[in-house]
Amino acid sequence: MDEKYKSFLIQQLEEELTNASNINPGIIAAKIENIGFSCLICGKCCRRAFGDNRVLLIPQEIQVILDHTTLEAHEVATPATSGESYNDLIDTDGRIHTFGWILPRKSNGDCNFIENAKTSNKCKIYDVRPMLCRTYPFYMKDMELHVSECEGLGHKILPEESLKIALDVVNRYITEIEDTIALYKKFEGFVSGPENIKTTSDHTDKNDRVIHIVHDSKGTHEITR
Ligand code: SF4
Repeated sequence: MDEKYKSFLIQQLEEELTNASNINPGIIAAKIENIGFSCLICGKCCRRAFGDNRVLLIPQEIQVILDHTTLEAHEVATPATSGESYNDLIDTDGRIHTFGWILPRKSNGDCNFIENAKTSNKCKIYDVRPMLCRTYPFYMKDMELHVSECEGLGHKILPEESLKIALDVVNRYITEIEDTIALYKKFEGFVSGPENIKTTSDHTDKNDRVIHIVHDSKGTHEITR
């Protein structure tokens, strides 16, 4: 990413941030009340019932979970790979570059923090769960309220509950824009390897592990998994 393009993206985000800061949560609350929502604790959003269940995390959310649990960093966050082709995200040393973090998932794709499906759909970190989980199924994009798939839509919701969700949704929107601006400001770029270069697990790391370089709003982190 050249510096000129990076400046352009930051400027766009700063304009969006100004607009987002002027959103009236009452208007968002009225929309949520009109849509209707009550969480049925079905756990589908924590599994792959609706497809992609990745939960993106920003560094301050990771820190909150670490501060309130006995979990270690690698148990809370993993590099935000899509699981698909890495293409030009592999550098000349075979390291995979990613942007940000996600909650770890079990081998079956369920969120690591949901209890056993047969016994409970409870979240083990519910009180400190990330903003995405706190606001699901609602989110803001391009200044508009959007709704993800959810079994609880259409159920009656009280005005005060709608407002509480709206405040969280708007706060999440603003926080994520701020975090992305900080990420772009820290990002120094990297040189992609040639098309046929393989990941570290294929040719350098004798323990068959992959080296990830994670770029986030705090800087750059090398993670071996
Ligand atoms: S937010 Fe929706 S999908 Fe997720 S547990 Fe509640 S009702 Fe189910």
